[in-house]
Amino acid sequence: MQAYDAVVIGAGNGGLTAAATLAQKGLNVMLLERHNIPGGAATSFCRGRFEFEVALHQLSGLGTPEKPGLLRMELDKLGVMEDLEFVEISDLYNVVTPDGFRITLKTDRDETLAVLKDAFPHEKDAIQKYFDLMASYANDMIGAFIFRDPEPSRQKYPNLYKYALQNSKEILGQDFSDPVLKAVLSGFWGYSGVPPTRLAFAYMAMVLFQYMEFKPFHIKGGSQALSNAILNKFLSNGGTARFSCGAKKIIAQDGKIKGVVTDDDVEISTDYVVSNASPLSTYNHLMNPQQVPEDALVEMKSRNLSTSALTLFIGFDCEPDELGITESTNFLMDNTDISNGLLERMNRLDIDDELMVLSCYDVSDPEFSPPGTCQANVVTLKYGEPWLRIPPRQYHDVKFRCAESMLQRIEEIYPGARDHIEEIEVGTPLTHMRYLGHPLGAIYGYEMLTKDALFFQPSRYSPIQGLFFAGGWAGDNGFEPTLRSGISAAKSIIRRLGAG
Ligand SMILES: Cc1cc2nc3c(=O)[nH]c(=O)nc-3n(C[C@H](O)[C@H](O)[C@H](O)COP(=O)(O)OP(=O)(O)OC[C@H]3O[C@@H](n4cnc5c(N)ncnc54)[C@H](O)[C@@H]3O)c2cc1C
Repeated sequence: MQAYDAVVIGAGNGGLTAAATLAQKGLNVMLLERHNIPGGAATSFCRGRFEFEVALHQLSGLGTPEKPGLLRMELDKLGVMEDLEFVEISDLYNVVTPDGFRITLKTDRDETLAVLKDAFPHEKDAIQKYFDLMASYANDMIGAFIFRDPEPSRQKYPNLYKYALQNSKEILGQDFSDPVLKAVLSGFWGYSGVPPTRLAFAYMAMVLFQYMEFKPFHIKGGSQALSNAILNKFLSNGGTARFSCGAKKIIAQDGKIKGVVTDDDVEISTDYVVSNASPLSTYNHLMNPQQVPEDALVEMKSRNLSTSALTLFIGFDCEPDELGITESTNFLMDNTDISNGLLERMNRLDIDDELMVLSCYDVSDPEFSPPGTCQANVVTLKYGEPWLRIPPRQYHDVKFRCAESMLQRIEEIYPGARDHIEEIEVGTPLTHMRYLGHPLGAIYGYEMLTKDALFFQPSRYSPIQGLFFAGGWAGDNGFEPTLRSGISAAKSIIRRLGAG
């Protein structure tokens, strides 16, 4: 029987950084991945002469060499920074509404404040107040959570405690009356998958603050380049990886990890497992649920699964400016009501006035696509459940009907874009189910509802001794948190092994 110090299940962001951190400490690690390439959502695929980015719209937490964010520091320690090139994106996002209203928020806070005050002069004071609150809230969060204050208190972090259980819409509602302004300021809800009525203000404050403070980035070569770099570091430090070979079973005995069985029935002996798969599949499919303490199963049932996504990957035969695309990140809003109907829209199959995010990487990185071309990744959020109910014979019709509706919206905003399409591919919630293996194709782990955020987040720890979680199911989602979660899970193992 093969024996390893640790087995990492899944080569998504969390699995890759966990594996690389363990191998860097000289531990003997096996990484198992079902797919044939590393990255999970952080991958690319090719159609024609385009290599399409699957997931990354804006990388957070990187910062610059002069003002590094936590992610840069962690990637630096892993030794992968020298293998990567990042491109700073100067726009935070552009909002386009049906009546032709357009506004671009920049990553520079003062510039954005000026743009907003100019566009919404009747809300000038409220805008300033909101940005001040956001900054002081984010600072409270950093003190209490990032620096792990051992004695956090209401006195030290007044805003954190005051607003901890408030959702984004409540805060926007208390400050603003203009519905368009509220919609503009809450655009980032799309990155969490939770509408503002259910999304913790903590999330909204941190995302805006982070992107302004540490700037959004794109990666040369896309997120696949990052995944490859981390994998290569893992391999060069002696790690072993198997692709197209998942974990079939986790062996536990008396509440302790004993080993893993691979898809091709190889039994591996180990005391430590990091699972980058969801707890649902880890506890229910990879393990015998009867071996899992009742508390963990109950905790799991109390949470909701996040949304999945419907994505168009479009390769155009021209430069972005020929299409009228002048910003990297564009929120196409056909409806600026942030209170009603967002959940219903995410639950229905058809596309009507859904929020769409269009990212055109070539705006900030003209070398991203072949010369004279560009690509756009257009996403709208959809829960997976309705897609599972589609009879197989109707799947393609539904998929292409939805894609057609999305294209119509793109054509309305960027007239003539259709005539320039050279390649197009459509990803649905079922695509995410297939490639990520997550239940209902959930792309953001558990839904980060106000009731489940901050103090009530899922944990990387498991009651099974030796089992840890890494990735989007073990806390916040997004590239930065998932990359960092793998490092944290690995450090827990390193401490236990005394290998630090
Ligand atoms: C369309 C889309 C857009 C996004 N945009 C952004 C963005 O702009 N900015 C941002 O920060 N984040 C974004 N995200 C979120 C981000 O991509 C994810 O949070 C992150 O990539 C999740 O990483 P993870 O570690 O949870 O692993 P995942 O990517 O979920 O990968 C899990 C891996 O585990 C493997 N696996 C599962 N079960 C097994 C098994 N039994 N055996 C072996 N392997 C297994 C899977 O094959 C997969 O490779 C986006 C996501 C999507 C899908």
